[in-house]
Amino acid sequence: MFDALSVTRVQRSRLTDVDYDNLGFGAVFSDHMFSMPFADGAWGAAEILPYGPLAINPGNATLQYGMAVFEGLKAFRGVDGAIRVFRPGMNDRRLRTSCERLCIPPLPEGAFEHAIDALLQCDHAWIPSRRGHALYIRPIIFSDEDHLDVRPSQRFRFVVMTGPVRAYFDENAGAVALKAEDVYTRSAPGGVGEAKTAGNYAASMYPAKLARDQGYAQVLWLDGVEHRYVEEVGAMNIFFRIHDTIVTPDLRGTILPGITRDSVIQLLTDQGHRVEERRISIDEVTATIADGSMKEAFAAGTAAIISPVGKIAYRGKQWLINDNKMGSITQDLYNRITGIQLGEREDSHGWNRVLHIPQATQAAPVAARA
Ligand SMILES: *Cc1c(COP(=O)(O)O)cnc(C)c1O
Repeated sequence: MFDALSVTRVQRSRLTDVDYDNLGFGAVFSDHMFSMPFADGAWGAAEILPYGPLAINPGNATLQYGMAVFEGLKAFRGVDGAIRVFRPGMNDRRLRTSCERLCIPPLPEGAFEHAIDALLQCDHAWIPSRRGHALYIRPIIFSDEDHLDVRPSQRFRFVVMTGPVRAYFDENAGAVALKAEDVYTRSAPGGVGEAKTAGNYAASMYPAKLARDQGYAQVLWLDGVEHRYVEEVGAMNIFFRIHDTIVTPDLRGTILPGITRDSVIQLLTDQGHRVEERRISIDEVTATIADGSMKEAFAAGTAAIISPVGKIAYRGKQWLINDNKMGSITQDLYNRITGIQLGEREDSHGWNRVLHIPQATQAAPVAARA
């Protein structure tokens, strides 16, 4: 893979400038990026170079028509010092599906994981040693061709960038409040809801801003036909515990198939929990909260991993779930997933891609749980 990978390293690392006490999400970028062009019907020479501007003309089709797909995954420094990337094969597969929907050529077999490996060989020192922090990996593919006519592009670029991110999850911060959106929609049958594409996010900004202005952290999206069935949350999938059954909306083309969602379903099933992937209406959600059978709710996605949901607003009314506190299954899932990511728990499904970095150049491992 990449026999012609050229590597140009930075003169001076910016790592020492990073303020790990005030890390946001996605504001700090590591020293290097991976880049590979597509032209004349083939993927070209791969390179690793200092993170920095790309030359783009105003006529670039990505700027006109949103010709862009992306992925998001994390690398962790474990309690044993090993570096683990969580389920990159799943991101590779999902990226292929997104590419197909947008007429973007698929990457060569193996290129996705090799690009990440090569980049982390350069920038592994950026993977935080602090528990809960991680190195976020953002691969993108976008049109690199100037054309105003509406047609599939012929030139693209695959870029991978990374950056250290803080823990989203705060055991003391309590649960998040969601606004079930009954005016705007995120996706519709036949649309691009299941593709991880830039345009889905552009369309979500305004409803998300209205929700935030009203005091809600995120939008709880309902289906695009009847505004009746629950779909997902911002950039996370949603789960409800009704009595002892865990219910999550089934994938029917309008919902982004989250890798955290998949992991949650697998872990719950392993433990013998009953999981139902099915349609769930907002009326069923509010009715089960009202009659006490809704025990807990949480959202799942790479950034926060697991987020307890404590409040849902719908048509001007508010419902509290589990007294606005984190439920026991929510907490247990967070511990299990982070335990696998940090090498504290057995990775029985082989989810981690473990990177071998020369010991001498490594930073300290993450501290074991107190
Ligand atoms: C990325 C994403 C998710 C979560 O997927 P993960 O693979 O778990 O990070 C959920 N919804 C949307 C809209 C997304 O873009």
